[in-house]
This record gives sequence, C-alpha cells and structure tokens, in this order.
Amino acid sequence: MLARAATAAIDLPPFASSAMDGYAIRAADAPGRLPVVASAAAGRPADKPLAPGEAMAIATGGVVPDGADAVVPLEAVVVTDNTIAIGLDVVIGANVRPQGSDVRAGDAVVPAGARLGAAHLGALAAAGIAVLECGRSPHVRVLTTGTELRRPGEALGPGEIYESNGTMLEAVLAAAGAQVEVLPPVADDHAAHHAAIRAGLEADILVTSGGVSVGAHDLVRLVERELGVEEVFWGVAMRPGKPLSFATRGTTLVFGLPGNPVSSLVGAMLFVRPALLALQGASEPGPPWAGGTIATTVRRAPTRDELLRARSSVTDSGVALTPVEGQESHMIARAATADALVHVPRGEGELVAGRSVRYLRLD
Ligand code: AMP
Ligand code: MG
Repeated sequence: MLARAATAAIDLPPFASSAMDGYAIRAADAPGRLPVVASAAAGRPADKPLAPGEAMAIATGGVVPDGADAVVPLEAVVVTDNTIAIGLDVVIGANVRPQGSDVRAGDAVVPAGARLGAAHLGALAAAGIAVLECGRSPHVRVLTTGTELRRPGEALGPGEIYESNGTMLEAVLAAAGAQVEVLPPVADDHAAHHAAIRAGLEADILVTSGGVSVGAHDLVRLVERELGVEEVFWGVAMRPGKPLSFATRGTTLVFGLPGNPVSSLVGAMLFVRPALLALQGASEPGPPWAGGTIATTVRRAPTRDELLRARSSVTDSGVALTPVEGQESHMIARAATADALVHVPRGEGELVAGRSVRYLRLD
C-alpha cells in the first residue's frame, strides 16, 4: 500500500520515440522519394539531425531525430538503392510517441493509498522510481478456540473436528497485506484462554475464532473483558456471522469471529480485511463490491442481510450469480465450490431472479 504519492522522476517516454520500425521523415516531404542518410536503433540515437528531404531508418523505441516529425512504417515504403519511395500523405506526429505523453516528470504516477498491483509496479519502474514509501504491514495474531479442534494430520477422537479457520483466516488476511501469526488452538478453558488472548493482544490486530456466542463454553468476550479489552459492538445483523464482536485495547483492534467456518470467512472479509487495509493507509479500504444479477429467486431474511455463496458466470447482460446448494454456516466445502459472495439485503418476501445484487469475489 503506497503511503505517499509516487511522482515520476522523468518524462515518460523520456524522449520522442518511434512506435514502429520504419523511417523518420518530415511529414511535409511525403509523398516523395528520400535518401536514407542514417539509422537509429533503440538505445542508439542517430548522431545528427534530419535535414529536409532526408529519411533515417528507425526501430521501435528509437529516438526520433531532431528535424523529423513523423515515422513511416517499413511496410508503407518501397526501398531501392538506399532510398525510400513514399506513396501517400503522412500527417505530422504519425507513429511518434511524444515525450511525456504517458506521464510528465513531477506528476503522480500512483496516488497515496493505492494497493500496488502489477501495472502500478511497472509504471513506477518505468518512471524511474527506485524507492517507495509504503504503509507498514500490520501484525495480526489469529487465535482459534475450541476443545474439539485437532490439526489436520492428527487422528480425530470422538466429537473432534479438524481446525480449519486458522489456515483460512491466514490466507484472507495475508492477502490483504498482514503479517499473520496463527497461534496454537486453545481449549475452552479459562486459564488457556487467558494466556493465549494476553499473547494475542500484543499484535496490532487480534482475530479470534469461535467462543463469541452465548454458550456456556464461549469464553472469549469474558476473558477479553478481564484483560481490559473494551467492546465496541457484539452482534451484527447478517447471516452468516451474527455473533461477531469488535473491541479495542489501547491501539490493538480485537475481532471475535464466530467459529462456524463460513461465518468466520464472511466476518473476515467484511470486517477484518477493511480494517487491515485502512491501517495500511488504503484510500478505499471497504469491500470491493461489484454488480451482478441473481440467477435464481431467493427468500429474504426479514431482519438480517444475507451473504450467499454463489457461482458467477459472465453473460451478455452482465454477471449472473447462482447460489450454491448448501448455505449453512458450517458448510465450508460447499462454500469452496463458490466464487462469489452475494449480498441479499434484509426484507420481506423474495428477491426475484434477475434482480440486481452486489457481490464480492471469493478468490
Ligand atoms: P463456536 O463459535 O465456538 O460456538 O463454534 C461454532 C461451530 O464452529 C462449532 O461447530 C465448532 O466446532 C466450529 N468451529 C469452531 N472453531 C472452528 C475452527 N477453528 N475450525 C473449524 N471449525 C470450527
Ligand atoms: Mg467453540
């Protein structure tokens, strides 16, 4: 994430250059027959200016010599005995890339708050920018809770399941620029929670999974309170992910995600990721919603916004989103067949097939 706008060190292109392999001429000399007096390759400018009535061979990216104002492509001329015959009119500026036509020295190449993508990095290098000021990568600790959790590779005892949220959250948060440390899972035990949450609070962001609901074994909020964490909210009107909590202690942000894997994923995408991007100075930290249409009629929930896992397909009229079978919040394998998260606003009745919706890409 770029913290300060990066400005071009040079004009780009740095000189008027040829867009084609051909001949540099004065447009006023065409049509006509011109002697070829020199040649300019990329990185090897001709050593003299072009005089009226002359042509110079030039390669793509070659410096257009002083005196020339156009380039005629190779395929538009007939060459005989070191002269070229041009049959047609040529306009001034034809096949010439003017100096600074991409960006001017001193102008912003990439604004502050942009996440650096491939084109940004290319533009920064092309404009001669060797050093960038970027937002610090926040340190995130992820703590999964649940006596039932075992790591993949271990044998499962009665009532046990594999711990999957740690791996999944690490992927979501690392992709948003965090330095993620997944702590060992903790059992639903007060002392174990206390020690692990205390360690988690040393990070810029603590993300817990599980134990934030109303069950007797849900200890996360209780223990956080004991450790001086101040709750900002608990519970959001969405499905999945209702019992999500957000709190702070000092400058540490504390997110409590529900344990059901799909709830954890949705909570991370809608709440933790934007916070992470904002901490890094993003100009647009919010979820990158896109527009599409729902392909099948779905029931709406009267009091909660829903986030349906769906498959997207590109049609002539835009992106169509088909909810996958199996929308329960424990169904992470079904969610893995989806590539989109569709927002269905709360309300009465149905959202009829063909209606516009917004969605997030699940990558
Ligand atoms: P909880 O939010 O702790 O009540 O957990 C809700 C459901 O999610 C329970 O079925 C848990 O077993 C399951 N669960 C909690 N944490 C994880 C995790 N880290 N990985 C996979 N499933 C989990
Ligand atoms: Mg639990």
